[in-house]
Amino acid sequence: MATDIRAKLGLRPVINVSGTMTFLGASIVPPSVVEAVAAVLPQFVEIDHLQKLASKTIARLCGAEAGFVTASCSAGISVAVAGAMTGTDLLAIERLPDTTGLKNEVLIMTGHMVSYGAPVAQGIALTGAKVVPVGQSTQARRYQLESSITPQTAAAVYVVSHHAVQYGMIPLDEFCEICHAHGVPVIVDAASEYDLKGFIAQGADLALYSSHKFLGGPTGGIVAGRKDLVRAAYLQNGGIGRGMKVGKEGMVGTIAALEAWETRDHEGIRKLETSYLELWTRTLADRAGIRAEWEADPTHNPLDRLKVHVDPVGAHITAWDLASALASGPRPVIVRDHEIEHGFFYMDPCNLHPGEAEVVAARLVEELDKAARSNEVIATPLERRRNKRAEAAQTWPD
Ligand SMILES: *Cc1c(COP(=O)(O)O)cnc(C)c1O
Repeated sequence: MATDIRAKLGLRPVINVSGTMTFLGASIVPPSVVEAVAAVLPQFVEIDHLQKLASKTIARLCGAEAGFVTASCSAGISVAVAGAMTGTDLLAIERLPDTTGLKNEVLIMTGHMVSYGAPVAQGIALTGAKVVPVGQSTQARRYQLESSITPQTAAAVYVVSHHAVQYGMIPLDEFCEICHAHGVPVIVDAASEYDLKGFIAQGADLALYSSHKFLGGPTGGIVAGRKDLVRAAYLQNGGIGRGMKVGKEGMVGTIAALEAWETRDHEGIRKLETSYLELWTRTLADRAGIRAEWEADPTHNPLDRLKVHVDPVGAHITAWDLASALASGPRPVIVRDHEIEHGFFYMDPCNLHPGEAEVVAARLVEELDKAARSNEVIATPLERRRNKRAEAAQTWPD
């Protein structure tokens, strides 16, 4: 690795075993992508032409008619929905979020109305669309979707994510079949999914991805799918999409990341990630109060994570205090803690530089030994941790 810029900036050298997280800087961008970004930054380009090149690459990789690069998958949700309402009507595009005279209802199953760091529903509503929830949080049925479709329905949004409710929902192929029977296009938010072709193959009219998640690109979003809908979404750059602008570096970087994805040694990387999980499993074996098990990714990405259960009586520390302890000190390790109140966290092996898995193992030993030596169980109130981020938000940047 080249010299670590973080020391110079005064940033902590965090090790990411959390996943591709915006709050940690998303993912490791491989050298070919870094070079492409650096090469284009000093040059002028014709952006429409560059986006046409992006369209070709996206079309090939996603099995789509066309595509373009936007600021993020979040931006993709808004411009895709906006495009479904306006088509190529330039005046309507300039008028949004005023949707007078347009179809403006957008369906989404209630179990998909999640937050990935911001609410999916807000990304829809930003355009001026009216969000129409379908079904209940843990159940959506065919009749509910069918009866939600009206002459005002502009589109339906479908979220593929570990954040979404994983049962009781209408499967994508059936969802598309119902929507298409009524002429309603389906927009799939697949921000964090490895599968670039499957959702369009199942009937999605548009599929949206993040450039900076598994693909290892710079910050950006990919809109792929039906050419007329891609065009209508692209034209939002002259409207609400302007504030979601991506630059030449994001476009070139996304193209390079897609090309790198095409030739990446996926099997070799999986093997390496498996070896990290094996190392951590050995490290945690026979540790008092600790039970570690492998868990497959909930949306079937080719990826396992280590689920670490912490029994505070045996380990002398709660799961959340262990997560906080690992995140402290000169080698902070950030674990995946979405469900920490249940007494477990996950360790994600996807975002490590060579040598870091061993540092993670050493940090586990260090913090568990420290807890074992403590006379009392280290157990701070969970509320304190749960509300920390919201409290910090009120005093930022202090
Ligand atoms: C990360 C994520 C997003 C947002 O993606 P960005 O490209 O970071 O804006 C949207 N939806 C889901 C399901 C996500 O996981």
